[in-house]
Amino acid sequence: MLAVEQLSHRFRNGSEETPVLHHIQFKVEKGEMVALLGSSGSGKSTLLNLMAGLMKPSEGSIVINNRPIEKMSENELAEFRRTHIGFIFQSYELIPHLTVRENVELPLVFQGVKAKLRKEKALSLLNKVGIGEKSELFPSQLSGGQQQRVSIARSLVTEPAIVFADEPTGNLDTTTEKEIIDLLIELNETLFITFVIVTHELEVARRTRRVIQLRDGFLVEDASWAGDAE
Ligand code: ADP
Ligand code: MG
Repeated sequence: MLAVEQLSHRFRNGSEETPVLHHIQFKVEKGEMVALLGSSGSGKSTLLNLMAGLMKPSEGSIVINNRPIEKMSENELAEFRRTHIGFIFQSYELIPHLTVRENVELPLVFQGVKAKLRKEKALSLLNKVGIGEKSELFPSQLSGGQQQRVSIARSLVTEPAIVFADEPTGNLDTTTEKEIIDLLIELNETLFITFVIVTHELEVARRTRRVIQLRDGFLVEDASWAGDAE
């Protein structure tokens, strides 16, 4: 599903180069749920953005469904992202003047899907994430946890191969955080969605069956266990 091969990244500011990731290597199989753990500044977001094709790596390869994405042209990559990759942001990134349902439909608008089918898919997912009755409200009328549910539904509407989430519970209180993680685990177990979830909280990482840990841009641990850690 996903293979990260000898991935290194440096940010360039004029003549200065800041190395941020060093020879990162791991694989994620279909249906896995992986936590990417590390303290602030360890390189988690950079790694996630590289895997989601939002930037190009300095060195190495990211292979999704047997396709090395760093070799794609800009147009190819944009199309691949629209059809194969879902992304969940810490700050939800919903469009304020669109309703909840229209926000979830938006990725399908870009794919040219007809209105009736878009609506069906969006409503079905909104029901799955537990906010079917909020579909005609605007994002500002929802709590943070509910807005993140919308963003989760939106990330799934194109049936992506893999979904990346960058600190999806970072803006939420502890109770809501637990509910959102419960939801992601349920989606992973019932729909076999492959998730890579960035977090700096051990509590969140404990809930998944695999944790990859970054420290100062190095992969320092890749641990899996069977059964529920709770
Ligand atoms: P994390 O998500 O784990 O907090 P990041 O991937 O955001 O870490 O950042 C890792 C390191 O890369 C940090 O030292 C950060 O300052 C640096 N960094 C991130 N983005 C840029 C950028 N656009 N230009 C230069 N340095 C950056
Ligand atoms: Mg980050």
